[in-house]
Amino acid sequence: MTFHVNEKRVQAMIEDIAAFTASPGKGTTRLTYSPQHRDALDYLQGRMQEAGLATRIDAVGNLFGRLEGSDPSLAPVLVGSHIDSVPNGGAFDGPAGVVAGIETAFCLRDQGIRPRRPVEFVAMIEEEGGRFGGGLLGSRILTGQVGANTLGGMSDARGITLGQAMEGFGLNLADAPAAVIPKGGIHAFLELHIEQGPVLERTGDAVGIVTSIVALSQFEVRITGSAGHAGTTPMPGRRDALVASAGVIAGLPELCHGIDPRAVVTVGQLEVQPGGANVIPDAATFSIDMRAPDAATVKRIKTAIRARLSLLGDAGFGVNVAELLSVPETPMSDEIRERLIAGAEGCGLAWRDMPSGAGHDAMVLSRIAPVGLIFVPSRGGISHTPEEWTDYDQLARGIEVVFRATKSLAE
Ligand SMILES: [Zn+2]
Repeated sequence: MTFHVNEKRVQAMIEDIAAFTASPGKGTTRLTYSPQHRDALDYLQGRMQEAGLATRIDAVGNLFGRLEGSDPSLAPVLVGSHIDSVPNGGAFDGPAGVVAGIETAFCLRDQGIRPRRPVEFVAMIEEEGGRFGGGLLGSRILTGQVGANTLGGMSDARGITLGQAMEGFGLNLADAPAAVIPKGGIHAFLELHIEQGPVLERTGDAVGIVTSIVALSQFEVRITGSAGHAGTTPMPGRRDALVASAGVIAGLPELCHGIDPRAVVTVGQLEVQPGGANVIPDAATFSIDMRAPDAATVKRIKTAIRARLSLLGDAGFGVNVAELLSVPETPMSDEIRERLIAGAEGCGLAWRDMPSGAGHDAMVLSRIAPVGLIFVPSRGGISHTPEEWTDYDQLARGIEVVFRATKSLAE
């Protein structure tokens, strides 16, 4: 079986990108518009040019490399993923898919293949929401799903607005609409990602070919009560915002499971004000992330959570719920799945159908193009930690499938 991917080159790219971190020795911290992001873009641009691609950075910092097709008038096949990370994350979440793209470009060059269709490779910004929250920002901007008002209102934990951060990166917020790709502007989008779960490791399959991405929703909930002295305020009559919040949070797993055992709910952020050890909290703000196989189920969970929160309102607490993100389930393109399956079988790799519990850029880009998503194994099923790992030969096998599918889509 002919294998085209160069595993050593793949390993070198992953290791090089991992070095662009703000937390050396403590995993990958590469936030959008940070110096590490700049260094990574410079590096990737260099590798893309080496692979024979013409590079450009769009109005919001997404990096593209283009291999011209013999018919340049055709919409390109787009291959890639994101380059940002969560704080203290791993080396593979995002870069695995970016490197899959660039290695595919190297393989096309090595084989002397000039596709009929142009092929573009992309490294997108802010998929994790690690700096500006919400997530999937690069792809949402590309698909025209975020308006100027939303962008203008975004800021990071230190109060730096998106516009200021962009300016520091040599970009201008007012230009953001120029990054939008119209519907039909892409022939197909292909993304390789680490599984971030235990299935492939358990089954021993080389790759997972995703059938659909689950529906998800994210809330920010703010509960307000009354502050008071921890020593002099009697227990009866207290309106402790944290105790009230904790009661709701503790009940979420059961509430969610009762609606659909496949659904998942997570509170990953909690902020307490005023934050003194001897002061009764008068405000608590927390996140809720919920996911289920379809949007109807997510809606039922949301309704149940809102009903539970309204009980706090009845008890005299202030309750404010803002929905930050709501995405329906996303089926993957059957045509692209067939190409991926043919790619896997063409090089004798075991594959399996699987759903994705995590949202990815492919989900967002499905608004403007057919998309395909392929998973490679994650050791121990873990990610978003420095221990996140995929063996390089496993990654190389996944990229071989991406290369074959890309070639076939661009023919
Ligand atoms: Zn990712």
